[in-house]
Amino acid sequence: MKGYSNILVAVDLSDEAEQVLEEAAALAARYQAEISVIHVAHALTFYGDFPYYASPLDSELYNQEEIRKILFKELDKLAEPFDITRGSIDVRFGYPPDEIVAKAKHDHADLIVVGSHGRHGIRLLLGSTANSVLHHAECNVLAVRIVES
Ligand code: AMP
Repeated sequence: MKGYSNILVAVDLSDEAEQVLEEAAALAARYQAEISVIHVAHALTFYGDFPYYASPLDSELYNQEEIRKILFKELDKLAEPFDITRGSIDVRFGYPPDEIVAKAKHDHADLIVVGSHGRHGIRLLLGSTANSVLHHAECNVLAVRIVES
């Protein structure tokens, strides 16, 4: 097996993010791969009964720099125990699966690591991020099974 040289890990800043990052960091150490982190800021809103993600244009209504600052603070805290520094962390705005796949393509990542768990209610309706990334990515995708505490 060839191994990996450029791993992209997607974190959503929920309680599960650490488990996802831990697995990605272990793989990066094992293969001596570069590791980078992406978090996608998105606005979930409703059109009548239908949920949809606000477009990047909508997100320009918010102060992206302020949001970015707040998110970087959280991401720095999360990434620090794994020796991942700010230069390897990216915050984007938009629909998470699209942004994750686009960054992986742009950076020539050879593995995307995401979390995966059971779905309930509205999140089932929206489909899982892991599933969507898996269907659109051009590289391998590892779905880390989340252990609910
Ligand atoms: P979900 O299917 O939305 O519960 O998310 C499952 C996994 O997709 C998470 O553990 C992350 O790896 C990734 N993910 C979900 N939302 C985001 C986000 N906003 N930014 C980056 N990664 C995300």
